[in-house]
Amino acid sequence: MAQLTGRVALVTGAGRGIGRATALALASAGAAVVATARSVDELDSTVAEIRAAGGEASALSCDLSDRSQSVRLIERAAVAFGPIDILVNNAGIGSSADPRLLAEFDDAFWDRTLEINLTAPYVLSKAVLPHMRSNGFGRIITVASINSRVPSLHGGAYVASKHGVLGLMRTLALEHAAEGITVNCVCPGPVRTQVNDRRVEYDVQRLGVDREEYERGLTPIGGRLEPEDIAPMVVYLAGDEARMITGQAYHIDGGVSMA
Ligand code: NAP
Repeated sequence: MAQLTGRVALVTGAGRGIGRATALALASAGAAVVATARSVDELDSTVAEIRAAGGEASALSCDLSDRSQSVRLIERAAVAFGPIDILVNNAGIGSSADPRLLAEFDDAFWDRTLEINLTAPYVLSKAVLPHMRSNGFGRIITVASINSRVPSLHGGAYVASKHGVLGLMRTLALEHAAEGITVNCVCPGPVRTQVNDRRVEYDVQRLGVDREEYERGLTPIGGRLEPEDIAPMVVYLAGDEARMITGQAYHIDGGVSMA
């Protein structure tokens, strides 16, 4: 029997990037996966790939900047496969849509970043906890960032949201540790995805450097990570073997945070 057979996982931002890789990896470990994001075509493609490999998956579109949609999402997801065992808070927006010095920051972009990167994990976690408490089992895994630990120029809202979500998850971990519910974060370094492509482009232009050379120097190991480098840790944290791990934040960053 696969490691996660019989478990139901909800993965946010599962249409592309780290979320897509994570949804595929959870499904291949045996979980039934509810994939969510706004872009229906991308979700459909994730679900089709899982089903083609013999897994179980369902797509539910949701805009996580709308709190009522986020609460309804948990109810809709439970209709698909039953109560949620594993919540992966992955959806997020980066700094590259409007990078600025904090002194010149756009207030609407600040609000939007915190709504998606910090408030949505709060709302979803809160809504899913009754399922997990009644099952006596739960895994909440949040894709935070190395920017949960270190700042990034011109990305004040992103850095604040990622520091905040780490604190939120540690609090949840402490509050539910004795109920069979673990809460952990993974903290990626630069991963080759749409959002990171835009950030790299911004930095290359800003610094006036060669793109390839800049990319090679992004991690001590060399280059950027791939979404598939992040997913296995999420699968591990979702499994029974990780039952005694909670309140942790794992850096998967090519060595950035040790340098
Ligand atoms: P990505 O390729 O841009 O994917 C982001 C996902 O989030 C998409 O599926 C997107 O779908 C979804 N999303 C965005 N806004 C949403 C909203 N309002 N409602 C619902 N879904 C929404 O980005 P990624 O790099 O994979 O990022 C995934 C997570 O990893 C984020 O939390 C990010 O901060 C974190 N991270 C990434 C890196 C990196 O270098 N890539 C590094 C550290 C941490 P729709 O647009 O269709 O809604």
